[in-house]
Amino acid sequence: LEVFKNIKRNNNDINAFITLSEEFALKKAEESANRIALGKKLKLDGILVACKDNFCTKGIRTTCGSIMLKNFVPTYNATVYDKLEKAGAILVGKTNLDQYGMGSGTVDSIFGPTKNVWSENLNNPRICGGSSGGSASAVAANFCSTALGSDTGGSTRNPASYSGVIGFKPTYGLLSRHGLIPLVNSMDVPGILTKTVDDCVDIFNTIAGPDDLDSTTIKKSFNPIELSENFNLKNVKIGIPKEYNCEGLTSEVLEAWTKMADFLEENGARVEEISMPYTTASIFVYSILNQCEVASNMARYDGIEYGHRADDESSTENLYSKTRAEGFNGVVKNRILAGNYFLLRKNYEKYFLKALKVRRLVSDDFKKAFSKIDLLLTPTTLSDAPLLSDFTKNNNRDQCAVQDFCTCPANMAGVPALSIPIKLSSNNLPISLQLMGPNFSEKLIFNTAKFIE
Ligand code: GLN
Repeated sequence: LEVFKNIKRNNNDINAFITLSEEFALKKAEESANRIALGKKLKLDGILVACKDNFCTKGIRTTCGSIMLKNFVPTYNATVYDKLEKAGAILVGKTNLDQYGMGSGTVDSIFGPTKNVWSENLNNPRICGGSSGGSASAVAANFCSTALGSDTGGSTRNPASYSGVIGFKPTYGLLSRHGLIPLVNSMDVPGILTKTVDDCVDIFNTIAGPDDLDSTTIKKSFNPIELSENFNLKNVKIGIPKEYNCEGLTSEVLEAWTKMADFLEENGARVEEISMPYTTASIFVYSILNQCEVASNMARYDGIEYGHRADDESSTENLYSKTRAEGFNGVVKNRILAGNYFLLRKNYEKYFLKALKVRRLVSDDFKKAFSKIDLLLTPTTLSDAPLLSDFTKNNNRDQCAVQDFCTCPANMAGVPALSIPIKLSSNNLPISLQLMGPNFSEKLIFNTAKFIE
């Protein structure tokens, strides 16, 4: 496959892939070619895809960017990837991520950081965003036309925004999480990264729908989305939530946001400023709930069933603790510790239950908004892509509040959201905006995104 020459030539520069699946891809390409020759072409025959390395792929190692799963080879496919494969797509490789999806820069992987393809100078690179930064970069670098990411607090939309591609997180429950190695089960959603809205719709139609292997998928069968040919914004009400005009938002992003609101209005939409007062609470709630779920999710890594095993068998206790000490990075360990603290009997009500209640308030903000308007338009990230050196300065990886401010509310509420590149900043880096809608409003989001595109 020609594409592997290109990948091998250029991937070293940006480090989008953890594993290249060249042999596997050649086999799949042959199968595709045979089907096409027989006139039995499948929908995605010949389409190159990549997959974040937290989706299980049968026979291909799946590392989560961690020592713990460095040599883990799953025996089954994640449902969403399986559907791509069954539709003829060709997997070129598994992409880099922050360990287990914990991060916003793709800087915390044992395989090293992924660099932004738009960097002015790859020796002093920009971050590509994260945690699905490998997937966003693979699409941005034309290594493939589609990549799967995951989105717990923004991990698909954030790197899409910094890398200048479409990043889409659907309504919770429309895409199966089976085989997606969990971070926060109540917020995780597989995400789709593509160059165009049309591709995004195509892939979404291929992989959406109920799955017996994930009890949180919506049971109703999924009706594929067809974009409207003559879509116009006439009856569309668009809300501009003023809380998203927050501290740290750069004037360039604010300007792109304002201009887009004007553009939509000029084209017939009704645009109005609204208030979503719990927006700022979202980050805190996200952080508490994230750490609680992480604490219980990570308990599965004990060195017994799968993954890394330390060579200390003096006692079961010692084996567990040494395995985890070696297998996880500091970010993961911190979240496990904090989560267990919040879940202590004496803290449970004060932190965990309280956070659940505030999560409901964040979610109610959306309900109230969507009783008056159809879509929300906000920034995706507060600036263009930061320099890697700034982002990791003083080993400060605690960027959550800044990075996830605009993206994590949608995960609290489970609503669909899409990041779309708008223009280039004065640094020649992508600036993107986000569209959010009520549950199951994917069609309107895609139509509007296509209008903007
Ligand atoms: N930055 C967030 C976190 O570290 C986003 C994670 C995600 O969406 N996977 O938790």
